[in-house]
Parts: sequence; C-alpha cells; structure tokens
Amino acid sequence: MLKIVRGQSMLFIVLSLLVLVACTGNEGTENNEDDSVEQINNQAQETEGKSDEQQLPEEPKEVTNEITVAAIGDLLIHGILYQDARTTEGYDFTPMFEQVKPFLQKPTITMANQETMIGGEELGLSTYPRFNSPHEVGDALKEVGVDVVTLANNHTLDGGEPAIESAIKHWETLDMMYAGAYKDEDDRDSIRVLHTDENIDVAFLSYTYGTNGIPIPEGKNYLVNLIDKDKIAADIETSKELADVIILSLHFGTEYQRLPNDEQKDLVQFAADQGVHAVIGHHPHVLQPVDWVEGKDGNRTFVAYSLGNFLSGQDEIYRQIGGMVNFTIEKVTKGEEESINIKDPKFLPTFVTNSNRRDFKVIPMYQLSENELANASKYYQDIKKHMAQWVPELEFIESE
Ligand SMILES: [Zn+2]
Repeated sequence: MLKIVRGQSMLFIVLSLLVLVACTGNEGTENNEDDSVEQINNQAQETEGKSDEQQLPEEPKEVTNEITVAAIGDLLIHGILYQDARTTEGYDFTPMFEQVKPFLQKPTITMANQETMIGGEELGLSTYPRFNSPHEVGDALKEVGVDVVTLANNHTLDGGEPAIESAIKHWETLDMMYAGAYKDEDDRDSIRVLHTDENIDVAFLSYTYGTNGIPIPEGKNYLVNLIDKDKIAADIETSKELADVIILSLHFGTEYQRLPNDEQKDLVQFAADQGVHAVIGHHPHVLQPVDWVEGKDGNRTFVAYSLGNFLSGQDEIYRQIGGMVNFTIEKVTKGEEESINIKDPKFLPTFVTNSNRRDFKVIPMYQLSENELANASKYYQDIKKHMAQWVPELEFIESE
C-alpha cells in the first residue's frame, strides 16, 4: 500500500503513454520494438511528401483496468466481546472473523468502520457508553484482510485525546490506512489515497454527525471529522487532484431505523453532486438498503445507507445482522481521456452468533444453520429483499 503524490502518478502516466505508443506501433507486425519505432519514423517521412491523402494520427489504444472495493459496518467492541477474546497473553479477536476471512481477503481493497477507539489496555478497557477497546482488534482486522479503517464516529472521543493518540499509534505500527480521526493538522490535511497495482488511485474520506455531546478539545478539530458540507466539499476537491475515485464514509442516520431519513438522503445527494463515486454509511446499527443516486452532472453515485453492525455485543435480531458490500471500479483510459465507472454491486449478509454469550462469530447468512438462528432462511430472504429493494440487480455473494 502506498500513499502517492501527484508527481509520481504523472510520471507513471507519461511512462504508460510511452509504452502505449511503442505497443501500438508494434501491433500486427512481427518486429521487435526498435524496428517498430523505426517504422513509425519512416511512415512520418513518407507522409510529408503526400498531399492528396490525409494521414490521421493513430487512435490511442483503450485500456481498461478493474479493482473491487468492499466495506463492512460498525465494529462495536462491547465488554462481552473483549472478555470473550481474552487469552493468557492478551486478546485474540481473529477467531470471531474466521468464517468471513475469505470474503474480506478477496477484494482489492476492504474497508471497515472501527466505531470504538482501540486505545489499548493501558488506558483501561471500557464498554458502552464510553468505549475503549484493545489494540488487538486492529491486529485482527489487519490479519483478516482489512486495508483501510474509518474512525469518524459518535464514539471517537469516548476515551478523549489519549485513546485516539494511542489508537493511531497502533494503526501506524500495523501500517493500516486510517481516515476520519487524526493526530494533528498536517495528518488531517493529508488526504488518504491508496494506489493499487491496477493504477487506480482511491481516496478515502470519513465524517460523523457528532460525538455524543463530548466536546472536541479546543483547537483540536483534527481529532475527529464532523459532517460539515463546506469542509466535505473542500476535501472532495482536493481528493479529485490526488485520486481517480473518491469513497466517502458517513456516520449518520437514526439508530435502529431500517430506512434512511431525509438528512441522510440530502447528504448523499450532496455527495453525488460533488462527484463522489461511492458513499458508505453507518451508525443506525441495522442494515439500510443500497441505491444509485444521480449527481447534478449526470454522474452516478453508489450508496450503502447503513451497513449495520459487523461485530457487536448487541442482541436484537436486526442488530446482529450486518454485512459486506462490494462493488467494482472500472477505469477506462484512452490517450488523455479517463473515465471511471462503478458497477456490479454485491452484498454478503452476515450474522453475529454466540453460544451463551461466548464464542462470538461473524457468519455469512447463507451458511447459517437453523441451530445457529431459528428461521435462518426466512431472515436471510427478508434481508436480501430489504437490501435490493431499490437496486434489483444487487447480487448476493453465496460462495467463497
Ligand atoms: Zn455510531
């Protein structure tokens, strides 16, 4: 994973174009590259003498690259979860993700919303209403394939500045990209961009509606990004200079409501109008449907209004259901022209099981047995219908 600066990416584009010219010249001949360059020169000389025929420069070749991006919802580490993860040496959360690991590892980029700060044991672990979670939550996410965490949540300030600082230090030791909570102004102003091998650069932005009434320490607004249209618009403009694709995470909506409210819809429309490619929503603790929203320039933005809880100790049925949304980013390059297309949305509904409040596990719903959840298949069908109600082409992931 690389954070890149524009200069490097421009150099790459120039190099790519040179390679492209060489390849185009070689097309349809058995010559090696040197010969084909000569051939181009010869053609150029011949052309000079002709006035009756118009020679058009050869069309640049169209190159299509694709990556997949996946996102999971809230990781809300209640006391019951870290007690369950306790080992003789510390904490191990990886068994909880065992059954979803293959799905998390497969996409090019997997993002997760780390709702509770991983301030670590030294600061004292705590549960609702003011969470502080073990560092090992981060280790597990890294281990199971998460590449980016979003940290702007209503619980970001639960443990104050020390918890945020300690969490960020740990994310740094894991080389995990984070967005939404920062260590200082410079950190906040450095937009997170992930450069992929497929030459598609993706920017990540993350904001929350509030911090449960806990005031942000004076002069330290960088500690958590609050939703503010002007600030979001400015960050989107900067991101356009740095990346091909912009993914905006918004922690918003009404808790336990299965459909988005007007404020969510308004913010997503705003994001679409600014040219954001995808919006990932969370906070309601239950799943809300996905949709396509048209921006003012006719662009199309994909939105998951709420991804629900991915891992939590909450025990009401819809709060135990979450999931992973997945989509493909296609980048078509032709000469100087570049276009981005978001397509093939998919969803993997998941359920958090436990036996007598121990052995918590996130399980793909299609793999659930009636022993793990009574009426499992009825709930699964209900969730599929719910998620696809506005996007009938939404596919459900039902194999590894
Ligand atoms: Zn929340």
